[in-house]
Amino acid sequence: MPDVPTVAQTPATSTPFKPVKRPRLEEEPEDDPVELDTIPFIDCEDADPLWNLNTSDILEASIDDDDDDIDEENTGSLSDSKLFAVEKGQLVLLFNRCHQCGLLGASAVITSTEGCQVRIEQSCLGCESKWIWKGQSLVGGYPAGNLALSTAILSAGALPGKTLRVLKFWGMQAISPATFFTHQRRFLHQAVRNVWNEEQERVLGAMQTTAILSGDARCDSMGHCAKYGSYSLHDTIHNKIICTELVQSNEVKSSNAMELHGLKKALSVIEEAKPDAQIVLTTDGHKSVAKWLREEKADKVKHHLDIWHVSKGLWKKLSGLAKKFPLVAKWMKGIRRHLYWCAQSSNGDPELMVAKWKSVANHIANIHVHEDKRFPECCHGKIYREWFDPGR
Ligand SMILES: [Zn+2]
Ligand SMILES: [Zn+2]
Repeated sequence: MPDVPTVAQTPATSTPFKPVKRPRLEEEPEDDPVELDTIPFIDCEDADPLWNLNTSDILEASIDDDDDDIDEENTGSLSDSKLFAVEKGQLVLLFNRCHQCGLLGASAVITSTEGCQVRIEQSCLGCESKWIWKGQSLVGGYPAGNLALSTAILSAGALPGKTLRVLKFWGMQAISPATFFTHQRRFLHQAVRNVWNEEQERVLGAMQTTAILSGDARCDSMGHCAKYGSYSLHDTIHNKIICTELVQSNEVKSSNAMELHGLKKALSVIEEAKPDAQIVLTTDGHKSVAKWLREEKADKVKHHLDIWHVSKGLWKKLSGLAKKFPLVAKWMKGIRRHLYWCAQSSNGDPELMVAKWKSVANHIANIHVHEDKRFPECCHGKIYREWFDPGR
């Protein structure tokens, strides 16, 4: 019997093999396997920053002319209060008892609204006092609830126009789209940048001397005519995107070259933060990326191909073949599972992986012993399938 794998079966066995994670296909022999267990796990629950609007930052920002009635003392936090929908009539009812002397029959008028902020003025004939009440605390002069609404729209990835229209149809007082964009421009984008930078610094700081990363580009349209693209590197150990670099197609010769350019930009960020880091990088099969990594970065980056992309390419070829030879269609799933199994069960040994992979040509013809000594025999027991006839 050959070196029997313990985690998976060949596709021909009765138990279907389902790949749990994407194993990596070796591009080059792995002579120094990385000890995943030695890399400390960062508890994402604790580590994720809760975004709290920094009051002092906002106070420094310039303030709209229409925010003249700023009550600097009445500053609050966005995160510690709940909001309720209250009818106008029900709200005003609360103000018929004087805030000062407690006499019933005080008059209350809604004097102004600003977004979902409401201002009520209570007057008492008994003690002749006036009291101004506001529905929301202020953060840096801005009603906290208004800012929270803009924040919620942005962080939920919702369309501001549509979301605010929903509130309008509901009868809820809300900010205008223009106010949303003002909030976004003045505070929210900077807040997102701050959180991103802090988090990136933290994750890069926690990175060990060997980083296990995967990278891929995404573009604004399919094909080779994208104007913008982004390249992201994912830290597989901590399950975090550690770097996203934007690329515009005119930065490179053609939009097709954006993939490599994006990777170069993203890797330079890692190298700047961790000059001594060794990187294990998984990417799709972009030829220019593989060539550059092989020729320029061989000493620093160990390159792997993502099996999902390999299997996708294989599936496409088999689909074409199945149109001519219907029996291929019956074997397609099995062959794909075999590909995953080869990568997963070979413990990073590329030669063993290739030997296992080549055995599939014999296997589908009902031949289960193979010439290659590294994988001389299939691992399955007796099976019955519709076999290919190698003589035909
Ligand atoms: Zn009174
Ligand atoms: Zn076999």
